[in-house]
Amino acid sequence: MTPDLIVVGCGFYGATVAERAASELALSVLLIDRRDHIGGNAFSETDPETGIEIHRYGPHLFHTSNEAVWRYLQRFARFTGYRHTVYARHRGATYPMPINLDTMSRFFGKAMSPDEARQLISVQTAEPGIAASGNLEDKAISLVGRPLYEAFIRDYTWKQWQTDPRTLPESIITRLPLRFTFENRYFADTYEGLPESGYTQLFARMLDNPRIAIRLGVDYLALRHQFQPEVPVIYTGPIDRFFAGSQGWLRWRTVDFEKEIIDTEDYQGCAVMNFSDRDVRYTRSVEYRHLYPERRYVSKRTIVVREFPREAAPSDEPFYPVGATEDREIYSRYRALSAKHPNVLFGGRLGTYRYLDMHQAIASALKAFETVLKPWFQNGRTGPLKRGPEGGQS
Ligand SMILES: Cc1cc2nc3c(=O)[nH]c(=O)nc-3n(C[C@H](O)[C@H](O)[C@H](O)COP(=O)(O)OP(=O)(O)OC[C@H]3O[C@@H](n4cnc5c(N)ncnc54)[C@H](O)[C@@H]3O)c2cc1C
Repeated sequence: MTPDLIVVGCGFYGATVAERAASELALSVLLIDRRDHIGGNAFSETDPETGIEIHRYGPHLFHTSNEAVWRYLQRFARFTGYRHTVYARHRGATYPMPINLDTMSRFFGKAMSPDEARQLISVQTAEPGIAASGNLEDKAISLVGRPLYEAFIRDYTWKQWQTDPRTLPESIITRLPLRFTFENRYFADTYEGLPESGYTQLFARMLDNPRIAIRLGVDYLALRHQFQPEVPVIYTGPIDRFFAGSQGWLRWRTVDFEKEIIDTEDYQGCAVMNFSDRDVRYTRSVEYRHLYPERRYVSKRTIVVREFPREAAPSDEPFYPVGATEDREIYSRYRALSAKHPNVLFGGRLGTYRYLDMHQAIASALKAFETVLKPWFQNGRTGPLKRGPEGGQS
């Protein structure tokens, strides 16, 4: 049977569009993913040896201040009260992140009031000539001062980009959060938490509709010729792959994950520990049992996953867009080309070549559904699905 709508990619963007189209418009949807599971990068699974739930593509912490997105997700899952905190290890000591009054007091070895800390930082950020050079190092020093930069940002950035921060553009860090309070919650959003039964279960609930047919382990690009060209497509794969790299390949960064099962119930006392110094090769370690403290896992062992970022090769998972000027130029050429495919809507982080948090991917998908898909289906399916490269959506 010919579907009314084809959705490529079963991450938050694709799943949201598929769910809306099937539930609200009663459309038959074919949802395709080249991976062998639903959930995209938010996929979670239970480790068979320990029973601990892990996130295969790195820890995914849900947070949003978008009321509509939060309400939408409540239909498919209850959320825990998890509040994310992060610590950083530097020269044998541990500090809360992002840098706050507690971090500064410990680092400078004296209790400080907010005004005293502000005063200290304003002296340290006032290095002559520092703000103007255009590189990441000088920009960071102009924001937090040299001592905090050298302790918590310089080597971490080296490891993230495998490059001297003095050769990186300042645009990578337009702002660095520096808090002059003891607030140590990592996110400042109104809503935060994790799906009680995990992300994969949340996706299963979203897609539990007889109108949605799911095909996993299938690359849409290998079989797109089989589909009628007039059937609209929501494409959330990499936009450069859609066009076979005709305008050049967009650069991404990826992460190698090294998983270790350790014979202790608690290895690091928190979910995420950053490692700020160069002599530790990984950027951070994630101990997954801390994401669900209320579950009381019975295993006497724990799982720690260490992260090693690097530039992505074509066969790697694309995680973070490099987004340098030349990448942005290539992307704008693909956007222009996409206007020649009026029935294909490019969405999600890979389709629009930008980093999106989960709540942003969902918000963008809800908007595309309301402003592009719904009117098109309700107005008799005539004319092009979208006007302009991305149908006017953001
Ligand atoms: C390491 C890491 C940590 C993150 N942590 C957080 C976090 O803590 N909080 C947060 O809010 N966000 C986080 N994110 C961002 C989050 O992963 C994204 O918001 C989310 O993945 C966006 O959903 P999406 O649908 O756009 O993309 P994806 O989830 O990537 O889904 C796209 C899907 O398309 C499929 N696909 C691609 N090409 C094809 C093709 N040709 N045929 C068929 N299928 C195809 C892919 O297999 C993939 O499953 C993190 C991202 C990374 C990389």
